[in-house]
Amino acid sequence: MDLDIDTVRTARTRADCTLRPGEVFLGGGTFLYSEPVPAGVTGLVDLTGMGWEPWSVDGSGLRVAGTCTLEELVSGPGVLGADASGPYRALGIVGQCVSALTLSAKVARTATVGGNLALGLPVGSMIGLFAALSARAVIWTPDGGSREVAVSDLVTRAGVVELAPGEVIRETRVTAAVLGQRTAFRRVSLTPTGRTAAMVTGRRRGDGVALVLTASVPAPHVLLVRANDHDGLDRRLRWITGLGDGTWYEDPHGSREWRAAMTRRLAHEALDELGGA
Ligand SMILES: Cc1cc2nc3c(=O)[nH]c(=O)nc-3n(C[C@H](O)[C@H](O)[C@H](O)COP(=O)(O)OP(=O)(O)OC[C@H]3O[C@@H](n4cnc5c(N)ncnc54)[C@H](O)[C@@H]3O)c2cc1C
Repeated sequence: MDLDIDTVRTARTRADCTLRPGEVFLGGGTFLYSEPVPAGVTGLVDLTGMGWEPWSVDGSGLRVAGTCTLEELVSGPGVLGADASGPYRALGIVGQCVSALTLSAKVARTATVGGNLALGLPVGSMIGLFAALSARAVIWTPDGGSREVAVSDLVTRAGVVELAPGEVIRETRVTAAVLGQRTAFRRVSLTPTGRTAAMVTGRRRGDGVALVLTASVPAPHVLLVRANDHDGLDRRLRWITGLGDGTWYEDPHGSREWRAAMTRRLAHEALDELGGA
């Protein structure tokens, strides 16, 4: 841990979220405190002081604050989703998506959803979770306004997100209609406790299925396929491969070819699971 910074401010009001030169936002700090201080960063603004309700659910759907910890996500929305035939069954994949992160319980107690989304890592499984739920991220802009973006569009490249300097991920929203739909989760890693190398999350919507590929690709891919249309799925996967070098992600946790093959297997399994009525 390298804490060579000058200031840490706790944000308690929206005005406090206006960054001064050299400042960046602090969520749980599990990434920021595990890396050397980025060049030019001299101060942190702690968002956890905003006191946002971690999550809430009502007739319009689910809202998850940027500061909701992964532990709070599992013990709240994750528990709501445990009833496989209930009104929140789409949330049945919450626990699996959190477990897909290579975090100890201690880190999960502090790490936030907003921090995971803002990092935009291929293995950021909150991206796969909320993209499968067609969630929208509500982003506070530095001029005092806000904008919304689909979580599936938030990450553009590995570690690069559609956030301008000073923008805060305030919350993610999932509509009530989506909460009642069926979801599926698959993941694989090279070793039993290794980093996720390919992850597929999916949701049944009408007579179609939305599959979200993460971890094996630099930024999420959303594939819309008809239920049980395995040929259609293969066509879409071939199209992704045809996009060229760099389409499939590669690092010490898995080669491109292996990840592409695993993704295909997982995607077909998820399509099978979501196939029946
Ligand atoms: C042992 C270990 C294993 C890990 N494994 C994984 C893994 O498998 N996959 C993975 O994706 N990550 C992993 N991480 C990285 C990290 O812990 C998680 O991504 C975590 O969810 C980040 O959340 P945080 O609140 O701690 O972020 P922080 O460290 O506080 O911040 C991370 C970044 O997000 C920005 N940020 C934080 N909150 C907001 C917000 N609301 N709005 C805008 N910007 C914000 C910060 O400015 C910073 O740039 C791991 C970390 C450790 C220490």
